[in-house]
Amino acid sequence: MEKVIIIGTGCAGWTAAIYTGRANLSPLVISGAEPGGQLTTTTEVENFPGFPEGIMGPELMMRMQKQAEKFGARVEYAAVTAIEKSADGTFVIKTDSKEYPTESVIIATGARPRHLGLPNEKDLIGHGLTSCATCDGAFYRDVPVAVIGGGDSACEEADFLTRFASKVYLIHRRDELRASKIMADRVFKNDKIQPVWDSGVSAYLTDDQGEMRAVTLKNLKTDDESELEVKCVFVAIGHTPNTQFLDNGIGVDLDDNGYIVKPNASSQTSVPGIFVSGDVTDHVYRQAITAAGSGCAAALDAERYLAERE
Ligand code: NAP
Repeated sequence: MEKVIIIGTGCAGWTAAIYTGRANLSPLVISGAEPGGQLTTTTEVENFPGFPEGIMGPELMMRMQKQAEKFGARVEYAAVTAIEKSADGTFVIKTDSKEYPTESVIIATGARPRHLGLPNEKDLIGHGLTSCATCDGAFYRDVPVAVIGGGDSACEEADFLTRFASKVYLIHRRDELRASKIMADRVFKNDKIQPVWDSGVSAYLTDDQGEMRAVTLKNLKTDDESELEVKCVFVAIGHTPNTQFLDNGIGVDLDDNGYIVKPNASSQTSVPGIFVSGDVTDHVYRQAITAAGSGCAAALDAERYLAERE
C-alpha cells in the first residue's frame, strides 16, 4: 500500500512530490498522458522566480523531476483511468495495465488549452502559437499579434498584450463579447486593440522558418476570406480540465466546467484523502508558480491527513 500517489507531472505534481518526498512518504508519481504538463509545450519561461535569465519549459520540468527523485519520488509512465474507494477509506488507482492501492491521492492532472483543430497547430506551438499571454507576450514586441476568443481570458490577454505588441486583433466568432462588462469596456477603450467580429481563423500561415506569419480570416456571415499578418496567435477559447478519469462516480465534486471543487480553504476535495492542486482546480490564475504553490499546499495537507489516520 502506497502512502500517497500523485497523479500528474506538471509543476503542481512535481512540487507535491518534492514535499511528500522530503516528508519521507516515498510518493509514487503517475505521469499522465503528457508527462511534464503544459510547460513542456512552451519555450522559454521568464517569470518563474529564481531564473533571472529565464529557463526553457521542458528543462524546468526535468529539474523538478530530478529534485523530486532525489527525495525518493518514484515515477510510473502511465495514464490513470479511474480511482476507486475501498471499504477501509483507502483508494485504488487504476491504469490500463495496473492497480495501485494507496492511503491518499493528490490529483494534479492540469488542464489543456482548447485549440481550433487546424492541421499545423502542433508544429506551431512555441513558434507563434500559444495559449498564454503572460508566458509569451513579451517575446512579441512592436509586432502585430492576434487573440482568438471573446471571453474574459481573451479580453485579459488582449489587454495585457498591448504592453508589447504594436497592435492586437481580437478575433471573435460573433459580434458581441462573452466577457464581463468591465473586461469588455477595457478592450473597447484600448486603441491598440482592434476587434475582428463574426470571424474565425481557417488557416495558420508560416514563413520559411516555420514561424507564424499570418492567418487566413474567414468572415462567418459572408464566407469571405482574407489574410491578416500577425507574428503570434494567442488562442483563448477556454481550457478543458483533465478530469475524465473521475467519471466513475467516486464522489469528487466538479463544477459545471469540469474543474475539481475544493469545499474549504484547504486542498482537500469533497472526498477525504483525495487532495487537488494546480490547473485542474484553478481556472483563474493558471501559472506555473501558482500551480507549484498549490502542489506544496496539497502535499502538506496530505501529510497532515496521513498523520491523523495513524
Ligand atoms: P469562456 O468564458 O468559455 O470563453 C471562451 C470564448 O471562446 C467564448 O467567447 C467563445 O465564443 C470562444 N470559443 C469557444 N470555442 C471556440 C471555437 N471553437 N472557435 C472560436 N471561438 C471559440 O472561457 P475563458 O475566457 O477562458 O473563461 C473561463 C472562465 O474563467 C470564465 O468563467 C471567466 O469568467 C473566468 N475568467 C475570469 C477572469 C477574470 O475575472 N479576471 C479572467 C479569465 C477568465 P462564444 O462567446 O461565441 O461562445
